[in-house]
Amino acid sequence: MELSKTVKLAQQLVRIKSVTPDDNGCQDLVKDILKPLGFTCYTIQENGVTNLLALHGLNAPFLLFLGHTDVVPTGDESAWLYPPFCGDIIKFDGEDYLYGRGSSDMKGGDAAMITAMCEYVEKHQNHIGTIGLLLTSNEEGDAIGATPYVVDYMKKQNLIPDYCLIAECSSDKVFGDSIKNGRRGDLNATINIKGIQGHAAMEQYAKNAVFEASRFIQGMLNNPIDNGTPFFPATSFQVSNIRAGTGADNVIPGSCYLRCNFRWNDLQTPEKIEAHVRQVAKSLNIDCQMEFRAEGDPFLTKDGKLIDALYNSIIKVTDVTPTLGTSGGTSDGRFIRPLGTQTVEFGPVASLIHKVDERVKVEDLDKLHQIFVKTLEELYDK
Ligand SMILES: [Zn+2]
Repeated sequence: MELSKTVKLAQQLVRIKSVTPDDNGCQDLVKDILKPLGFTCYTIQENGVTNLLALHGLNAPFLLFLGHTDVVPTGDESAWLYPPFCGDIIKFDGEDYLYGRGSSDMKGGDAAMITAMCEYVEKHQNHIGTIGLLLTSNEEGDAIGATPYVVDYMKKQNLIPDYCLIAECSSDKVFGDSIKNGRRGDLNATINIKGIQGHAAMEQYAKNAVFEASRFIQGMLNNPIDNGTPFFPATSFQVSNIRAGTGADNVIPGSCYLRCNFRWNDLQTPEKIEAHVRQVAKSLNIDCQMEFRAEGDPFLTKDGKLIDALYNSIIKVTDVTPTLGTSGGTSDGRFIRPLGTQTVEFGPVASLIHKVDERVKVEDLDKLHQIFVKTLEELYDK
């Protein structure tokens, strides 16, 4: 089977082990492709993070493709059917997949964005406006020295994108069925729930902190924070970690430590959620200490030329009509949207990201490339 340029590039990228925040040469490979086509490439390094900003053309409209070259760790490699950085084309249920860590999140998407830019620029050397690419090696980590750092640089240079297209996995069941036009906010809380330690056989003198925690959790589940909005699902509450007990069988725990996560919509603020959680604890007489840490605000692009162009291109290439949605995790789009940039995400099916045996359908990468070329044509040629 002859592989397309997109799939070959994705394969090369997957074969480079680039666990956050180590780019390990991925961006050099991209630079070697873009420079001969006339892209101006800036490598911006900060705090052990490597970023690549590549630009072609001048002024508006400015479309920025946004991606990342880092991947999450593989975990126990023996749990994988094949080596996680093999980048081989492997059949699952009769279909060809590019296999390996980062194939779907998001080196496959990176490759489709890059080959689409190249194809467009080769055909239209004198296109209007600017076509750009920003890749970072710290999207899966804390983002320090990463996209926000380059965004500051771009602001200083007055490089403000009109459009930002991100090839993160967005599709739900079949390729093309979903565009993300925003993401929920992200908030963490650590909650230390107090009881009274005691002998397991002298329960009348003790108060079990695990039972107190369970009352609190049930209280949260019984009192949803909201019911969602037209573009966002309901604000979610999850317990991510729970710890209690001394290790002895005969001691009733006097404290229970919870870590909670909230994915919140545009009805909320971190302060409103905190007030809600404190109210639930108070109404149940739970003795506790809470600390909240906001990770990211929600963002939304309701409509605009970018959504229209992408939407039409998806239908032309896949025959699937996409829906707009904001579910799923947050993305680096949250750093671009505040510039006033129309920001959307569209990419392969999201079901295998961060998992063992991560893979992406070969056919979908080629379609993604075509969709991005058509989107560029619709935005720049009409
Ligand atoms: Zn990603």
